[in-house]
Amino acid sequence: MRIADSQRFACLDKSLACVRVTLCDIRSQHFASARLHNTSPKTLTQQQPRAYRHTKIIATLGPATQSSEQLEKLIQSGVDVVRLNMAHGTGQWARDMVARIREVSAQTSRHVAVMMDIKGPEIRTGPVDTPITLNIGDDVFLQTGKEPPSEVQLTGRSDAPFHCVTVNYPDLGRDIQLDAIVLVDSGLLRLRVKSKDESGVLCEVLTPGTLGSRRHINLPGVEVALPALTEKDFRDVEDGIAAGIDFVALSFVRRGEDVRVLRKLLLKLGSTARIIAKIEEHAGVANMVEIIDESDAIMVARGDLGIEIDYHRLPLIQSQLVDVCQQKGKPVIIATHLLESMIVSPMPTRAEISDVSNAVREQADAVMLSGETTTGAYPIESVQVMANIIESIEPSVSSDLNSQIKLHEPKAKMLRSAAVLAQDLERSGIVVFTRSGFLAYVLAALRPRGVPIFAFTDRGDTFRQCLLPWGVEPFLIDFSSNPEETIAGALATLKESGWVATEDWLVVITNALADDKIIDSMQLRQVRKVSKQKA
Ligand code: PEP
Repeated sequence: MRIADSQRFACLDKSLACVRVTLCDIRSQHFASARLHNTSPKTLTQQQPRAYRHTKIIATLGPATQSSEQLEKLIQSGVDVVRLNMAHGTGQWARDMVARIREVSAQTSRHVAVMMDIKGPEIRTGPVDTPITLNIGDDVFLQTGKEPPSEVQLTGRSDAPFHCVTVNYPDLGRDIQLDAIVLVDSGLLRLRVKSKDESGVLCEVLTPGTLGSRRHINLPGVEVALPALTEKDFRDVEDGIAAGIDFVALSFVRRGEDVRVLRKLLLKLGSTARIIAKIEEHAGVANMVEIIDESDAIMVARGDLGIEIDYHRLPLIQSQLVDVCQQKGKPVIIATHLLESMIVSPMPTRAEISDVSNAVREQADAVMLSGETTTGAYPIESVQVMANIIESIEPSVSSDLNSQIKLHEPKAKMLRSAAVLAQDLERSGIVVFTRSGFLAYVLAALRPRGVPIFAFTDRGDTFRQCLLPWGVEPFLIDFSSNPEETIAGALATLKESGWVATEDWLVVITNALADDKIIDSMQLRQVRKVSKQKA
């Protein structure tokens, strides 16, 4: 590895102790990235405790954060992955945002991954000229085609006021049962089905409210027969891939096949973006095992999930999803309402603090902010609060390794030994060299609490995709044909960037030459004092 230069950029909020360092490679515009500790690298000593965050933070971009100035603050506050929610964005917006994120990352020397969240088979009402006031007992006709309500539907009407709104689900009348509940606008409006046919569904208003344009509809218990990807999703993915996104989150995944459809599209487009399946309705929960097998990561999308299933079972489903992901070694994200009150308040509620703590204790890979950073009044503070809670809670999390994961490959089993060894040593880290990111993802899944996973790669896409899994700090470098040279460069990088101090232990997973053959090896190295350069 040949490193020409290094730049450091301190965090805006020093208390967060999160700094990412850029090392420019002389070959090309390559970057390595690391978060420093709560002291400057020059003063970090053996005696100082290491501030280190395993749990990653995802922030959704929106009007409150999408300017370059706000984005810079957001990234410097400790965000690891930026999410683009395509339910509210166009392909052009995504292209502009990815370009801006990359520009701000380069300027601040702190790199983040980009997740494009496509809306999938979401059911929505159509546009209305003016918001409609719905009172208890009113009739609402959900029109599913071009035709107006049929005669049969109209005979089911009461004398109460009648309203008509279009819905983008042609088979609603076929798939829903009489007396079923229709929830509109995150459950704020509740309707009951009175009659139905191919022209639509006539409902009675149970919970009153105002119906605006394009409101989201949930149909608890109904297996929605819409395709996994809409036309807009196809276009958005194409735009996202052209812009260089790192992850695609697919909404309302119902079965493994939905993920395969997206995988095929990514392959066709020649993209290496990883797929995050959002679990947010009944079928997704019922088929979680096959969905997790097909996906690269899972999002527990609690906003819709909390409407689609009995709300009081939400914590159980969350734990179950985290558990299965840990068995399968897949990253898991806990999303929505973690700091909801911070949309309007500078301080979280005590219950929210406990909710974030719970996600950290469950050892989720990442926690996600939505409204807090899209339209909230305190987006930067929300990220800082998240980071502060994580840093306070993580030291109390169990340091037992993940005993549920089944490792098949010998090299993966060696990683478990590396994790055991690293945890047994005081002040240690694991160094791994990876092209695909596989080794870094397995190490993360092992959950070696207290041990940073330093993942060195020579691929930009792998570098950014390693920003999501628990505890992984990626670095982008050149690999030398001589493994020893690569290791020496990596260790120098860690020392220069303040990640390790003299006498720290590093368990290094690497290739070595033995009898002219490349073999997998695990080495124990101790960081030595850098000798003064001769004049
Ligand atoms: C959710 O429902 O929790 C979620 C993250 O999805 P969306 O924001 O797309 O509704």
